[in-house]
Amino acid sequence: MKTLKLSSIYSVGLGFLVITLLIGVLSFSYIYLSAEKILTIINLHMTERTGLTLPYSTELLKSIDEIDAIRTRAYVLFSFALLLSALGAIFIFSIYKKNIMGPLHQISSAMQKMTQGEFEKLKVGGGTEISVLADRFNVMGQTLQDERKELQGAVSREQNIVRKLNVLNELNSSLIFKLSVSEVLESIISFSNPLIKSEIKTIALINRLTRQTTHFTSSLPKDYGDVTLMTNNIIRELFINKWMPIRLNVSSGDKRFADIIEGVNLKINNFLAVPVMIGEDILGTLILVNKTGANEFTAEDEDTALMVSFHGSAAIEKALLHEKTVELAKTDGLTGLNNHRTFHETLEEEIQRARRFDRNLSLLLIDIDYFKKFNDTYGHQEGDSALKELAGILSQSLRSIDSAARYGGEEFTIILPETPLEGALNTAKRINNEVRKHSFDIMGNKAHITVSIGVSTFPDDAMDREGLIKAADDALYLSKRKGRNAIFTFQQYKIESAEATPQS
Ligand code: GH3
Ligand code: MG
Ligand code: MG
Repeated sequence: MKTLKLSSIYSVGLGFLVITLLIGVLSFSYIYLSAEKILTIINLHMTERTGLTLPYSTELLKSIDEIDAIRTRAYVLFSFALLLSALGAIFIFSIYKKNIMGPLHQISSAMQKMTQGEFEKLKVGGGTEISVLADRFNVMGQTLQDERKELQGAVSREQNIVRKLNVLNELNSSLIFKLSVSEVLESIISFSNPLIKSEIKTIALINRLTRQTTHFTSSLPKDYGDVTLMTNNIIRELFINKWMPIRLNVSSGDKRFADIIEGVNLKINNFLAVPVMIGEDILGTLILVNKTGANEFTAEDEDTALMVSFHGSAAIEKALLHEKTVELAKTDGLTGLNNHRTFHETLEEEIQRARRFDRNLSLLLIDIDYFKKFNDTYGHQEGDSALKELAGILSQSLRSIDSAARYGGEEFTIILPETPLEGALNTAKRINNEVRKHSFDIMGNKAHITVSIGVSTFPDDAMDREGLIKAADDALYLSKRKGRNAIFTFQQYKIESAEATPQS
């Protein structure tokens, strides 16, 4: 760009002043000459006075006219010089104001604003050195502005990371003492919310072999829309994808999405699913649906979700192990039914409840007939399989409130809450029938077993746990005595005992 130098503006101004000066000198010289003429006139006048007769009046008048003409020219020139000087001064002042004073003022106020963090782009034209200075100021301001933005971005990213770490830290603290899987999952869901906001948050834990969901926690109820169906579809997709996170946006038109939302009665705009893993082992998945306040989940969200999943996974594993341990402590290893201790605890609780609500409660004591012979014939291992199979038959013939237990060896118990004697007898008969009809597959042969059952009822037969067990055991003893594959009640046992005891 061609720049107009301020020095040339000054040169023009100086030129004006020199010209003005020359005009001044010229006008002065005229004045000087007119003074000469005046002197001549005076001389002439003096000569006349001294008696010389000269054509006095003619010469004198001529000189006076000349003086007048000279003086008039001097006035004109002087006035012209004054006018030029004034114009020159006005011109220089306006140039100075437009190109120097104004821009400098703009630059100074822009600098002032810059110290307060505001950047204002200057528009100084004219191509002067000041406009070049303003342009450089603009470049400098833009650079500072860009750097400031970059710095602010970096600071906000740092703050974001600190915030995330704080939330994760709180999540860790809240998980330390949690031993229940569902509580752990709920904590993870609630802590994931401030990190990634979404409409639906779900964690599903799976059995890796069966691919079935073992635990499910969601910010929506399980039966809301098709949350479960969508979760199952995502788990299937994650298996196919070798547990790589899935991040999908409806508008992206991703083909995989069609499969996942097929038949799902939920409004899904986008979703993010990340695996929950312990080392190489898959525990389940964390699923976030419909990001709040944005069109889609970002790569940063994916990293955050993976962080949440990573931090939660150890607590999940610990709680799963704890649940497993509790389960093992409560159940019988061979049959999976409640063990002896759990049976006693459950019976105690149920008796308390029956007492509180004034209800009946019945107990069945079941013993396999001639099981020693079964073992001797087919072997102990086959005997174990038969015990397992029998446990299955018992479980299947019960209501959800009933509970079966392995009392020990080849003896089983069934607690029937809210059941009077009649109902208990029906259940006993059903079980006895089921077992009798069942074919146990022993090395290609069909084997059969029968069971003897003793029945006792609270509060008619006994008021406490030990009494109720003793009553059922007595009834069972009668069943055995009466030839086995039979059902007897404690009432019958009492009658039998009374008849057997001779009256004195
Ligand atoms: P009954 O009750 O009809 O009088 O005869 P039983 O032969 O069933 O009675 P007994 O009490 O004499 O024997 C119980 C047998 O149950 C002894 C043992 O061989 C078998 N038994 C107990 N516990 C187990 C077990 O865990 N596995 C196997 N395979 N057998 C068991
Ligand atoms: Mg026995
Ligand atoms: Mg037996």
